Parts: sequence; C-alpha cells; structure tokens
Amino acid sequence: MIPKKWDKEADVVIVGFGGAGAASAVTAFDLGGADVLILEKAPEGKEGGNTRIAAQGYLNTSSAEKAAAYLKALCGPRTVPDEMIRVWAEEMCLNNDWLAGLGGDPQEHQHQPEGIEFPDLPGSDCVHKFHDGPTYGYSLTWKRFESLVKERPIPIIYETPARELIQDRTTRDILGVRAENGGKSFFVKARKAVILTCGGFENNQEMIRKYLPGLPYCYASGTPYNEGDGISMALAVGADLWHMDNYAGPSMALKVPEIPTTFSMQALHFSKVMPGGMIVVGPDARRFADEKFKTRHGKVLLNGAWRPLPIQCPMYMVFDQTMMAAGPLYNKTPNRGWTAVIERYDWSDDNSAELEKGWIKRADTPGALAKIIGLDPEALTETVEHWNALAEAGKDTDFGRALMLAPLKEGPCYAVELSPSMINTQGGPRRNEKGQIVQPDGTPIPRLYSAGELGSIYSYLYQGTGNIGECLAFGRISGRNATAETPWS
Ligand SMILES: Cc1cc2nc3c(=O)[nH]c(=O)nc-3n(C[C@H](O)[C@H](O)[C@H](O)COP(=O)(O)OP(=O)(O)OC[C@H]3O[C@@H](n4cnc5c(N)ncnc54)[C@H](O)[C@@H]3O)c2cc1C
Repeated sequence: MIPKKWDKEADVVIVGFGGAGAASAVTAFDLGGADVLILEKAPEGKEGGNTRIAAQGYLNTSSAEKAAAYLKALCGPRTVPDEMIRVWAEEMCLNNDWLAGLGGDPQEHQHQPEGIEFPDLPGSDCVHKFHDGPTYGYSLTWKRFESLVKERPIPIIYETPARELIQDRTTRDILGVRAENGGKSFFVKARKAVILTCGGFENNQEMIRKYLPGLPYCYASGTPYNEGDGISMALAVGADLWHMDNYAGPSMALKVPEIPTTFSMQALHFSKVMPGGMIVVGPDARRFADEKFKTRHGKVLLNGAWRPLPIQCPMYMVFDQTMMAAGPLYNKTPNRGWTAVIERYDWSDDNSAELEKGWIKRADTPGALAKIIGLDPEALTETVEHWNALAEAGKDTDFGRALMLAPLKEGPCYAVELSPSMINTQGGPRRNEKGQIVQPDGTPIPRLYSAGELGSIYSYLYQGTGNIGECLAFGRISGRNATAETPWS
C-alpha cells in the first residue's frame, strides 16, 4: 500500500548499516551527491552488524583472471553465472584502491599463505587479505567504514527496522520502505532506489530449520539483529532466492539464555592447547568427531566432498579438573565476535562464576556427571575410559585427533553444553551483475538492489575475508547503479 504521507525521503534508501550499507552509502553519495539515508534496526551503539565484530579482514585479489578461476572452483557443483563471477572478480581487485582513495590505510595480513583456504584450487594464489590500519581485529576496519559514512551528511536512523518494501503493483517499481519506529509505521520514500544490506538469517530459527540442512537450531557468534528480514521483504515483492543452504558453520559453542550470541570455548579452537583432558560427546554420550579439527568455515572433507561438519544436538564438552584450573574456558579479548566485542561479558578467571550460574556442571565421576546432564552414565563412563586409553597410547584411532591428546584424569569432572554456532549465512535474494535483485525469471525488480551477505555470491565453499570483500565490491556496484536511476517523482 502506497502511503498518503511519507515520514522521510531520499534518493537512495539503504536498509542496514554494516559494511555493505557503508560502501553503498558512500558510493551513492559521492557519485553525483545522491541524497542518501540509512535505516538501521539496532539502537545506536549496536549498529555495524557482523562487519563490526568480524575479524576485520577483507579480500583484495591480485588478478581478476585468477580470482574468477578461484571463485568458479569454490562454487563446485553450484553454478553462478559467468557474468556475475567476472564482475565480482574485477571489483574484488579494486577494494584497496577504493579504500586508500578515501583516506583508508590497507594493510596486508601477515602469514598470507595460511590464509588461502583452498590452496589446491585453481587461481588460489590471487588471495590477499587486508585490514585497515596497523592492527588487525578490534573493529578497526569497521571504524574506518563508519567514519567514511559519518564524515558525509548521510542520516542514519537507528532503532528503525525496515519491515516491508512498498511496490507499485503495476510497474513493480520499489517506491520506498515501511519501517517501524517507536512501535509505529514509519514510511520512507526512495526517489531512485532501495538497497537492502541488512545481512543474513543467522538469528531466525525458523529459517535455519527451513533452509540449513539437518540443523534443529543454531546460534550466531555475530550480531543478533540479522534475522532474515531482507529475505522476507524481498520474497514479498517477488524475488528469487539463492545459496540458502550455504553458511559459515557449524562450530560448537556455548549458548546461554542470558546472552543472545555464543561463547567460543578456548579448548575447542583448532590451534589452542590447554592442559588437561577434554572430549565432546553427543546425546548418546559418544564422541563423534575430532574436536580439534580445523574446518574450512564449518566444512570438512567427507568421502571426497566438502560438507558441513556433522554435529549432534545437544553436545557436551566433558573435561577434567586440570583443564578447569588452567584458566578461563572462554577468551574474552574484545578482538572479534559479538559476545566479546559488544556484550563484554566478564568471564571469571577461574571459571567459578560460570560454575555458580550452572553454565558449567560438576560431579565427582563421569557417571555422576552424566546423570546431571541427562546422558547414560554407563555410556559416558565407557567413553571417558576409552578416550583415556587412546590418549595414553598417544593415538586417536577413532577420529585422528592430534592435539590435546590427554586423558581425563584428575577429578572432579565437568561438562558444558554446546550448541551449533555459525558465523553467518550466505543465502538471500538473488542479485545480478548490476546488484539488482531479480525475480525467478531473472528480470530485475525495478529500483531494488542489494549487497553483502544478504544473497551473497558464495554458493558452496567460502574463502575467508570474502564476505567483507564482497560487501565493498557489491556495495560499490549497487551504490553506483542505484544513484544512476531516474527519480520516479
Ligand atoms: C565472528 C565473525 C568474524 C568474521 N570475520 C570476517 C572477516 O574477517 N572477513 C570477512 O570477510 N568476513 C568475516 N565475517 C563475516 C562478515 O562479517 C559478514 O558476512 C559481513 O560483515 C556482512 O556484512 P553486511 O554489511 O552484509 O551485514 P552486517 O555487517 O551484518 O550488517 C547488517 C546490518 O543490518 C541491520 N539490520 C538487520 N535487519 C534490519 C532491518 N530490518 N532494517 C534495518 N537494518 C537491519 C543489522 O542490525 C546490521 O547493522 C565474520 C563474521 C563473524 C560473525
């Protein structure tokens, strides 16, 4: 329904103030001074989305030809149109120039070869990962993007989630957005176009069950505000969807009701070695994987094909007194992740506060622990004894774990319930090489664009830093095409 009165208007209306929103806004503003407005769901102080709490790396590829070959290989059996791959590859080479041209300070990560996630795929040596400024992490690349927006007269309206796209039923043009502000509808007219940059469906359990195979639930390590709103809004105006089952996960993490996002356990980090014995078991009290395996953003090679790490729900990390006494189970350094950077939960140094809260359970024996957490006591006792024998023999013949091969010895023993956790989802409305959201027949929905992880190009495998790289690349593409539209009024 077209409102009789609009509460605000602008040439280009951007939905979501993360990396893709920032790149779109700055581009649209700088090209011909389009009048740009950003709607943001989170309250001021919690904006920035996953971009703000990410590890802060972005991809800048060294050769468009190699980047195209690498992306094509990453797509595996999922084809993405060649034209999309070409545009992505060309634009990905320009991220540093764009940022430096605006006064940024692109710095290449150290340990570059380790950053290539699939070195055996063609073109992989095009991967170069950057961040802004001398230090990596701590929201610093985001702070640069944020300051680029804030140094321009671009209004940001916080706590105003977009709820609906307003479409001319005859021409199908998108004319604006119905948002909510203070519990009331808030109509924003977009004279030229709307760009959806409101992230994925990391926090929408219904969409998770519907689109992510085999996951009864999953929690996010990033912003809790990405709830798939862009998917619902785009579907309602006739958009096609793509890459809905592709996500960066799962990992195994602690989720408690008091905090919306997950805590990653230090002992489960692929490279962190903690003293003491630790295993993870499923609902049958048996181990099911190498707990220290380095996945490729959640994917593991199974029978020759990359698939999401098979996990169980629920899962329990079971460990001994030596590990309990070795320091905090959680790394609270505010380097990345919503819980550490924004929530700033102050985990106790000796884990005693979390034991007191019941996040950690304790018992004298594995059998007694099993009774507390609802597992079969005999099975857990047997699993611990079996693991101890493997650890003492120095070889995990069950799952090939190579790190922290220590038995659970000193009592009492402890458990933390783990949930599947993810970094982000890649699916959403399908876009074309101009950044336009398209219908199932491939024709664009007039005046509707997107960028970022909402309908990302990544269909199967994912190269780390590719998401923020894509926010910049498609943020620029959508920003310049949106601003080139002729106003409808
Ligand atoms: C812990 C972690 C580490 C990561 N590290 C990296 C990394 O180093 N490099 C990399 O490339 N990728 C990384 N990623 C992934 C990457 O951060 C994201 O894919 C990317 O930042 C997404 O950017 P975006 O602009 O599309 O969405 P976001 O940055 O998530 O921004 C979306 C914004 O939209 C807002 N929003 C949501 N719904 C609405 C609505 N209805 N109306 C208005 N606003 C709305 C949200 O509040 C949010 O501010 C990481 C992710 C996590 C969680």
